[in-house]
Amino acid sequence: MLSFLFPRKCVLCRSLLTSKETELCHNCRCTVKSHPKAKRMIPFVAQWTAMWYYKGNVRKSIQRFKFYNCRSNAVAYGRLLALKLLEQDFQAPDMITWVPISSRRRFARGYDQSQLLADALGKELGIAVVSTLKKIRHTKPQSGIADAAQRRANVLGAYKVKNPQAVAGKRILLVDDVITTGATASECAKTLLAGGAAQIHFVAIAATSND
Ligand SMILES: [Zn+2]
Repeated sequence: MLSFLFPRKCVLCRSLLTSKETELCHNCRCTVKSHPKAKRMIPFVAQWTAMWYYKGNVRKSIQRFKFYNCRSNAVAYGRLLALKLLEQDFQAPDMITWVPISSRRRFARGYDQSQLLADALGKELGIAVVSTLKKIRHTKPQSGIADAAQRRANVLGAYKVKNPQAVAGKRILLVDDVITTGATASECAKTLLAGGAAQIHFVAIAATSND
């Protein structure tokens, strides 16, 4: 009945799924390019993983998720990200958290997409999801800034740990939708480590580059 009212669609190309397909249609499952194991070091991040490349239908899908209220995409992304992590030498963290958007942006959007993603991933992995970071100033969207140094400057000091006791000594998996230069991931990881966290791993749905 529910699938009659809300036909299930491929999270990437939006074609209707058959009863045997979940999250992705057969075509997307066969053709979407998996992001390779990350080699590039991101300061303060022990290890990071992206599922796909941020282009084509992946880019459109994430834009629907962020800007056009397609909140339910989080469930599909969470399931697929969990599978990707479990295929690797994944060591379960003590908790999952996310890169928060500013309260101003959250108010305008009505939701924080990375929180939805963290919740979905935590549910799949059976790991507690904890709100650890607060964005303490509004920043320009990183997507509008090409220069890596400017991107770092844009997010410098933009986050704070809500409750240092909650993160002290913890191995944390930090979640965001897209990774570009890693400036935001690095700033959040630095903030969590300064707050007492033991180690930060980072995961995103997609990465803009291939390193
Ligand atoms: Zn598809």
